[in-house]
Amino acid sequence: MSKIAFIRNDDVREQLDSELINIHSLLRSKKIPLSLAVEPANITQDVVDWINSMNDECDIIEVIQHGFDHNKRNIYPYGFEFGGQRDFIDQEADLLSGWNLLDKYFGQLWTKVISFPYGAYNVQTLEAVKSCGYKAISTSFGVEFYHTLKDIVGRVVGKSRVAGKKISYHDRFVMNYNFYDFGTCINIIKRQTGQNECEHYTFDELKAYVMKASRITNKIGILLHHRFHKGQDELLDKLTDFLLENDYTFMRFRELITTRDCQEVE
Ligand SMILES: [Zn+2]
Repeated sequence: MSKIAFIRNDDVREQLDSELINIHSLLRSKKIPLSLAVEPANITQDVVDWINSMNDECDIIEVIQHGFDHNKRNIYPYGFEFGGQRDFIDQEADLLSGWNLLDKYFGQLWTKVISFPYGAYNVQTLEAVKSCGYKAISTSFGVEFYHTLKDIVGRVVGKSRVAGKKISYHDRFVMNYNFYDFGTCINIIKRQTGQNECEHYTFDELKAYVMKASRITNKIGILLHHRFHKGQDELLDKLTDFLLENDYTFMRFRELITTRDCQEVE
């Protein structure tokens, strides 16, 4: 089975940060696609114009939806934009508001995929995602043995959560919901230390994660948050080189969806 990698960069919002430009330039030079997870309510026309113009220059970008306004309704750490106590109707309304804005800003450039701010969702969120007609969700999952065991047990019993822990349906088409889940398992942030500061994993640590992930999936997703990655071009360069040297092909969600080599599960 072919080995596939994808890169999801979250929190694309009002500012066109130099870090976002740097990451895009680096990936463009290597012809590696980049899925930009956009906050529809917060993105500005400047950032919309930049994304559309970059796409005109080189066909590596894709837009997906990252919540609606990220967390203005339900201020972190007291709550999250999705999940928690929020019901179906409210969450569906937020999803659709974001969907309509992305239609207006990006047209065909956006793929109907949703990633949830802080990775938070509940069963009503998933029902709302199904009702709106998204093609896929993009969650995150762990690659340690205990994560894998928990996910296997959860999928066998057909739950989205077991003992309070979310169950990953990564690289599966979930028939009950009529969407795919393509989760990220490599996050280059080790620990957040401030509003826009963090400690990054070392290249050796990331390589070890890739090796662990490769034992459980042939599709490895990398999660970025550009504003934290100032000065980390070399790390991203080495990580993507490592994946290319190990025969990974980079794709966007739109290609993951149309590849259709996933398992189907209830
Ligand atoms: Zn976010």
